[in-house]
Amino acid sequence: MSDIFISREAVENQLNIASGLNKGGDKKVCILTFGCQQNEADSELLSGICERAGYGETDNPKDADLILINTCAIREHAELKALSRTGQFKKLKEQNKDLLIGVCGCMAEQKERRDALMKSYPYVDFVFGTDRLYMLPEIIRNAKSAKKRSIYISDLPHNEFGVIAEGLPIRRNSNHKAKVSIMYGCDNFCTYCVVPYVRGRERSRESCNILSEVKALVDGGYKDIMLLGQNVNSYKGDISFPELLKRAGSMDGEYFLRFMTSHPKDASDELFEVIRDVPNVAKQFHLPVQSGNNRVLSAMNRRYTREKYLEKALKIKSLVPGITMTTDIICGFPTETEEEFLETVDIIKQVEFDMIFTFLYSPRPGTPAAKMEDQIPHEEKVRRFELLSSVQNDIADKLNEKYIGKTVRVLCDSSEHGECSGRTSGNKIVNFEGKAMVGTFADVEITSAGAYILKGKEKDEK
Ligand code: SF4
Repeated sequence: MSDIFISREAVENQLNIASGLNKGGDKKVCILTFGCQQNEADSELLSGICERAGYGETDNPKDADLILINTCAIREHAELKALSRTGQFKKLKEQNKDLLIGVCGCMAEQKERRDALMKSYPYVDFVFGTDRLYMLPEIIRNAKSAKKRSIYISDLPHNEFGVIAEGLPIRRNSNHKAKVSIMYGCDNFCTYCVVPYVRGRERSRESCNILSEVKALVDGGYKDIMLLGQNVNSYKGDISFPELLKRAGSMDGEYFLRFMTSHPKDASDELFEVIRDVPNVAKQFHLPVQSGNNRVLSAMNRRYTREKYLEKALKIKSLVPGITMTTDIICGFPTETEEEFLETVDIIKQVEFDMIFTFLYSPRPGTPAAKMEDQIPHEEKVRRFELLSSVQNDIADKLNEKYIGKTVRVLCDSSEHGECSGRTSGNKIVNFEGKAMVGTFADVEITSAGAYILKGKEKDEK
């Protein structure tokens, strides 16, 4: 197995290349991001590298000298969206031969997709994989000088590839919210999921690097910090994940420290206690259940039972009263019967989640579930989806009603003409009347509530 950590010299070498790319710094990059929060974090890194290389940022591809398309492979819909956007750049390339177009992210790691992309989109200059982000300066330099299309992908098998490169610059999209990757990849191989094949083996950053990044953010005034990874609670650095969370949440100042995503098999009592005891750790827990039926969970290779999941979910709810619980559910996993589906409906009723993220099962090429017989027809997936949504709406309505008359602490995300919006420690959206400034906390009295939004008035505004 190759070394995970990219040497400091190799990173510095890339940054030196970046510094020499566009003396004068009058170029612009447009980065299009599809998919999950990990991709959003990667795009901030790409943007930081581009800034070092003299590229300002633009949202408009027409103004760009460099377009990067950061793709997602988690669902077919996300892939098609990225491809259709890529198709729109043909004209721009015809009008500007110096325009560079690169594709990266999860789709770039799938050989068939990559080959098809290079064939169907001849104006794409380069494709690079998820563990080649740190090489972007070299990739741009090569594309500028050689005028030759290139692919930068690890030649290691998917259970061996994956690196960690420390010390790269990050250009963040927000001045008060930040994501901090703590680990990458996944070794779980859930049968429906493509992540272990496209993000490589599970690997964790050292805690000192994570904690100094969090400290710099807290000192810099960031108020909502998310520790990010495919399975954050499987973190295997030099300390345990609960300990990391505790230290990251115990710095001076008021801020919300969140984490995403957790795997139920690694959700421990120690973690629950840290959520309960450390004030800055957000009172929110996203624990993907995916299905409420044991046979389906086993077919998904989720490695927990319905009973174990329920035990953990109900335990955290009793330890941290008022915690916001959310989950992911896959609707219409192959072979799922009506009775098995109804067990998922039942688990939602038992846990009483604040919100569920329901996805229609989408077969991902190369995964075991895609080859299973008895794929569920689309209309049936939609029917199950709608039933789940309606059950969940009633639960969320009931839970949010309890907030009416209470005062909650809200981090303000937008503020205009006395109309503000923000999120609580539990990540509930609150729209309120007030004068709070973006990036500051406000105490808000809740006056009305719907399934997904609370409304209220800033306390001092009375
Ligand atoms: S735990 Fe399962 S669903 Fe989550 S990223 Fe890993 S393989 Fe995919």
